[in-house]
Amino acid sequence: MKLCRFNDDRLGVVDDNAVLDVTPVLEGLPPERWPLQFGDSLIRNLPAVRKAVEKALSKAPRHLLSQVALKAPVANPSKIVAAPANYVEHVKEGQRDPGIHHGVHDLITTGYDTPSDKYGLFLKANSSLIGPSEPVQLHFEGRRNDHEVEVVAVIGKQCKNVAKRDAWGVIAGYTLGLDLSVRGGEDRSFRKSADTYAVLGPWLTTADEVPEPENVDFSLSVNGVLRQSSNTRLLTASIPRIIEIATSCYTLYPGDLIYTGTPEGVGPLQAGDVMEVQSPVLGRMTVRVAKRGA
Ligand code: MN
Repeated sequence: MKLCRFNDDRLGVVDDNAVLDVTPVLEGLPPERWPLQFGDSLIRNLPAVRKAVEKALSKAPRHLLSQVALKAPVANPSKIVAAPANYVEHVKEGQRDPGIHHGVHDLITTGYDTPSDKYGLFLKANSSLIGPSEPVQLHFEGRRNDHEVEVVAVIGKQCKNVAKRDAWGVIAGYTLGLDLSVRGGEDRSFRKSADTYAVLGPWLTTADEVPEPENVDFSLSVNGVLRQSSNTRLLTASIPRIIEIATSCYTLYPGDLIYTGTPEGVGPLQAGDVMEVQSPVLGRMTVRVAKRGA
């Protein structure tokens, strides 16, 4: 199932070039009161939501996909987790280019085949999360603000201390993400957390529709020029290994996002640029780049 959030926080199912509006299903979610649980209530209740969606489909109003505004398919992750330096060719370009490494990136990648084994993972602020219908707003004028396209795993259940062999079982689905990054000497959690610096979309493809998560093609072009193109089989720390590392440290909750790392071809963005992000398995989205405050 391909679930999207669109327009005024409506819930949709993507069917080729149409979106079926199944928003009334949200009324079946358990009521919540303060203090809210960590995590996303839609993802936490996904099995029941899917059953209700199946029933609602026959009467669901149809919209053209091209006519709706897509928002981030996960609204309330408790964490945005991301793997650093997780494709060999990106590590190499980072070591070659001081515009990328600023004396920081090369430090964590030198001498390790899998940098996250040594350096772990980082977090992006949840407030940086947007969907494809909202523009990326460049926050560091005069500095290099790069695109990083990544495959994102969405956690489906609360979990801790997950072994690699059990990790597929905690994933609800997959989507695409942009880990926007200003290059510089600050901590990753600062450089990659500006408002709008975590794009997520176009929709959540549930895990049952991604039969080979370790063989997903994905790419990014800017203004029609291909910049990044890779496949998740080239990840150095695999998706299960990232989940093992993450849950050795903290509890993951339903809706938590795992940005799995970017391949080579990262590069600077300017206001006015238009990014096309796509994967034959996970869909396609167009994301505009604007000045801050646009
Ligand atoms: Mn990244």
